[in-house]
Amino acid sequence: MSGGEAPEAGNAALTRRWQDVMMDNFGTPRLPLVRGRGTRVWDAEGNEYLDFVGGIAVNALGHAHPAVVRALSEQAASLGHVSNLFVAEPTVRLAERLLGLAGRRGRVYFSNSGAEAVEAAFKIGRLTGRTHMVAAAGGFHGRTMGALALTGQPAKQDPFRPLPGDVSHVPYGDVGALRAAVTARTALLVLEPLQGENGVIVPPPGYLRAAREITAATGTLLVLDEIQTGVGRTGHWFAAQAEGVEADVVTLAKGLGGGLPIGATLAFGPAAGLLTPGTHGSTFSGNPVVCAAALAVLDTIERTGVLGNVRRAGRRLRHALEGPDHPLVREVRGAGLLLGVVLDGTHAARVQRAAQERGLLVNAVAADVVRLAPPLTVSDREVEVFLDGFGAALAEVLEEGRRAA
Ligand SMILES: *Cc1c(COP(=O)(O)O)cnc(C)c1O
Repeated sequence: MSGGEAPEAGNAALTRRWQDVMMDNFGTPRLPLVRGRGTRVWDAEGNEYLDFVGGIAVNALGHAHPAVVRALSEQAASLGHVSNLFVAEPTVRLAERLLGLAGRRGRVYFSNSGAEAVEAAFKIGRLTGRTHMVAAAGGFHGRTMGALALTGQPAKQDPFRPLPGDVSHVPYGDVGALRAAVTARTALLVLEPLQGENGVIVPPPGYLRAAREITAATGTLLVLDEIQTGVGRTGHWFAAQAEGVEADVVTLAKGLGGGLPIGATLAFGPAAGLLTPGTHGSTFSGNPVVCAAALAVLDTIERTGVLGNVRRAGRRLRHALEGPDHPLVREVRGAGLLLGVVLDGTHAARVQRAAQERGLLVNAVAADVVRLAPPLTVSDREVEVFLDGFGAALAEVLEEGRRAA
């Protein structure tokens, strides 16, 4: 680009520009998107897609939801940022709201991402005076060094060793392994209520309750990482509420800001008092614009019956995809609108591609698992359109496989 010429902006051209200037940590993204509305997005050439990726379980209310647009515009036009040297009311209101939804007294620390929400939990853990931590193999807690130490995925961790230390990883869903690993020297146990990035893996019933009992007995903090499962994604405000489990620390991010970057670390009981002046912080923590957007997300979920929609749409997707019409599908697991479609073989990338060619965006979260995380507001009609197209994509991949065999 030079001399005021408009830069090229078609799909291929935008992708080439991306490759020229962006670091390659993500690999080249599959498609440039230029516009979104509700569950629909458009690429740089005007092609329309139904978005069942949702910015990786972020766009709780879909794209450009009027309540979010209004809240953040009004806040940006009145008070955009104050730093933590001053109080902004939306920040306080969001903390009050989150504690209200948890139904417990506690305290909140705001950050700008999921990894940072976990990082704060990590530091809270260290402030107990203990250093040992337990997390689950396959678990995902983020990419900063503390969060990465808790993440149970060696491929992501190995290039960065040594990581902040003394973390034991145990098989997910195994109560006996928790009992053996968590001791009176364990600062915290961190678990996802269901493992999202690891392929939407649901633990056996009673696992979280056992984790609560084991940590209570050793004086260990139970940290539930609800960054992916929280804020209505599973049909409950927090996934652990379905099990009646109350953690000492809960981390949130993804869906909370409705597309704006925010993380929150909620702490209850003695854990709420461990961060004292000077022990932690971030310039943007509690930024009023993102807090106003998050309040609009929570208000809209509450006012418009979104949790009921999540349960209904999730049931419909699950029922249809597990039915006899889809021999390529082995099972559908997950909760609410966080679903893993488990395929009979390592076909997820092919299904993702075939779906995209039919105007459906989904995410191959593992070699044999396609993750569905549409907006929590997805309509019945959109679910049916998705099922038609996704069914055709599954049939195409099955047919390809048969021809190749
Ligand atoms: C996405 C995710 C994170 C990391 O969040 P970032 O915003 O990407 O840093 C942590 N924990 C869980 C469970 C997640 O799904």
